[in-house]
Amino acid sequence: MPRRKENIAIVGAGKGGLYVLQMLLKHPRVNILHVYDKDPEAPGMVFAREKGIVCSTNTTYPELWDNRDIDTILEVTGSETVFRALGGIKARRTALIGARGNRLFFAMLADEARMRERLEEYQDALEKLVALRTAELQQANEQLESKVEELAVTNRQLEELNQAKTRYLLRSTHHLKAPFAAIQSYTDLILKGYTGEIPEQTSDIVAKIKLRCEVLSTTIREMLQLANLQTIDRNEVRMDTAELNQLVGDVVEQTGIIAAGKNVHLTFESGPEPANIHCDPGQTARLFEILIKNAIDYSHQGSEVTVSVKTDGKQATVAVKDRGIGISPQAKKKIFDEFYRSNEAADKHPDGSGVGLAIAAHIARLHDFRIRVRSTVGRGSTFSVIIPMAGVS
Ligand code: ADP
Repeated sequence: MPRRKENIAIVGAGKGGLYVLQMLLKHPRVNILHVYDKDPEAPGMVFAREKGIVCSTNTTYPELWDNRDIDTILEVTGSETVFRALGGIKARRTALIGARGNRLFFAMLADEARMRERLEEYQDALEKLVALRTAELQQANEQLESKVEELAVTNRQLEELNQAKTRYLLRSTHHLKAPFAAIQSYTDLILKGYTGEIPEQTSDIVAKIKLRCEVLSTTIREMLQLANLQTIDRNEVRMDTAELNQLVGDVVEQTGIIAAGKNVHLTFESGPEPANIHCDPGQTARLFEILIKNAIDYSHQGSEVTVSVKTDGKQATVAVKDRGIGISPQAKKKIFDEFYRSNEAADKHPDGSGVGLAIAAHIARLHDFRIRVRSTVGRGSTFSVIIPMAGVS
């Protein structure tokens, strides 16, 4: 419940009375009922009249006689006689405070008024500051919103450009396929002697041309594959159920001939139980083919590459482990980038394209597979593919 206002009468409206009046009028819980002074033009009287307060020059103070509505009479004349007279007429419950004996009280009143004034000033300043900051924040927010919109537009444009670039790459790379196939067939014809006998030196050079053509054809195939993967979405993958041990075992078998050609021992450790997964089997086999071929290409002669399948009920892990050249921590950050090849890799296997792992990463992205790489330079690498099992959520 809000507290009742304090009803106050002021007797004496000279300079002191005016001051007290001004201070009290600022107080929210004060109600000035009467102001008295024998001089109607005393500054406090003029001020009180302006404020609509009842003023009186009647020094018998009839309105105060035994008036219980008055809580406090403030005597500011400083006259002992007036103080005593007021003491005689006031109601018993009304407090009478005289200026003379209560300097401390009036000083406190002045302090409180000053503090109140300062508080109001602070409050004003604070409100202004809050308004200013709010406006600034609003402006910043608007700027941010428009920046976000701008970025979204730029992003869309970049995506469109990227797609256009991919389409262009796809088209131009596609056009390269036929000429290279033709060169390859011509070199075949020459080497098989259909165009007549050729000196041994020429035959060597033609054989080299044929080899380069094969490497370039592989690179073109890989670039087309990468560009195709970049344009498809997860929901466009043709999902099927495949048994992982079978799928990986087949790839190991197919790549066995490459391993044998490079004198690398390729072994397969299948899991103890069948492991069914959801995937596009062709793409998934391609992913393992890339990892196994890399393991062979970056291995030393006579060393081992092990491919294993392990399951824990929820997920399967296919690990391709080699004891080859290894990958430095700096190179490890870039190996999935298109066309990246480390210098050591280029030395060891000059015919690489730097596209294989980018293809592998896209296939993994489209299937929700994770690829983890552990490697030590000079000791070898393990590429692990973590695959969710079918029927496990
Ligand atoms: P490529 O093998 O044709 O160069 P990839 O995209 O398959 O292209 O691989 C990118 C790079 O990653 C390789 O050039 C090589 O630096 C590194 N890399 C990949 N696999 C291995 C591995 N098993 N051992 C060492 N380095 C590897």
